[in-house]
Amino acid sequence: MANVVLENISKKYGDTLVVDNQSLEIKDKEFLILVGPSGCGKSTTLRMIAGLEEISEGNIYIDGRIVNDVQPKDRDIAMVFQNYALYPHMKIYDNLAFALKLRKYSKAEIDERVKVAAKMLSIEEYLNRKPAQLSGGQRQRVALGRAIVREPKVFLMDEPLSNLDAKLRVQMRTEIKMLHERLKATMIYVTHDQTEAMTMGDRLAVMKDGIFQQVDTPLELYNRPVNKFVAGFIGSPHMNFVESLLVFDQGEWSLNIDEFKLVLDQDKVTEKMKSFSNKRVIMGIRPEDIHESRRVQNQSLGNRVMARVEVTEPMGSETFVSLRVNDKKVLAKLTSEFNAAHGEPCELSFDMSKCHIFDLETEENISLR
Ligand code: ADP
Repeated sequence: MANVVLENISKKYGDTLVVDNQSLEIKDKEFLILVGPSGCGKSTTLRMIAGLEEISEGNIYIDGRIVNDVQPKDRDIAMVFQNYALYPHMKIYDNLAFALKLRKYSKAEIDERVKVAAKMLSIEEYLNRKPAQLSGGQRQRVALGRAIVREPKVFLMDEPLSNLDAKLRVQMRTEIKMLHERLKATMIYVTHDQTEAMTMGDRLAVMKDGIFQQVDTPLELYNRPVNKFVAGFIGSPHMNFVESLLVFDQGEWSLNIDEFKLVLDQDKVTEKMKSFSNKRVIMGIRPEDIHESRRVQNQSLGNRVMARVEVTEPMGSETFVSLRVNDKKVLAKLTSEFNAAHGEPCELSFDMSKCHIFDLETEENISLR
């Protein structure tokens, strides 16, 4: 298996720059996810690694070898796409064996590899069927099997689960993750779905406008987002953003939102924040860090806000509540006992130890230490 290194790579289509001078090392045996909204350059990046797209600038290395001018078939990679790309007229066995036949493997070797992959993916009983006789999930397993039989150095997957229904997608996520553990392979996986990315990846490269915003483990991204984009992209439901005034007064730091004053503990104040005193900033707080005041014991003073209930969405184990603080909208993840109706007042406690503060202009997180 192998590492993959992107060194200052750019991709231009005509005058449009879709990947902008990006560098990244995907480690040997790592499961790295390229995640970001549609059009941010994920597929283009993956296709450059695969050799299906020329690189405008920079270098790509696979296992220490520069592959800029190496044909896709000679890069020792295997790619799995969203549309399974199976040969409809061939039986599953032959679909799995096809690439190995092209490469002139012996019959015995092909048979061995096909059977091992089929067993791994629990598709042994379908080997004599044609793709049309399989369900979407089974077909996607065959597509994975076609990659596995090749025993590539690197697996590249482009939204492989997006054609499946929600339940199957969740199941296949687990299967692919287990497959990664068993194969001990380097995998690079593209998705626009942050939940899929968070649950599957060792590390995520969060992309926007052709730039990796932050490359980190799921929990680091969740707890320490470097900017407002990453903060809002990772986590579901997403983080609330409220414009507020950062105030330093009589030795105390606070965020003021209209008439409400949210006091910040001293250990929340970073060096960077100090140059923002009496400036407008963006406060970010996750729905799970907003509580109903009456259910909070040990609440610190100064973090309460009066809100009005707009919509409640009971999820069973918890209830998502949309509220309004004057003209500002916030979403809170409250306990399932929450029972206030539309239009009723509700006092909220913001857990300010968990909040983030962003520069209004650059959107950089200025509260990270
Ligand atoms: P993602 O995978 O993140 O959805 P892509 O990598 O497919 O995004 O595309 C990134 C950008 O490049 C998009 O704006 C897309 O329209 C553009 N693009 C992709 N392929 C081509 C192409 N062959 N010619 C011109 N523009 C393209």
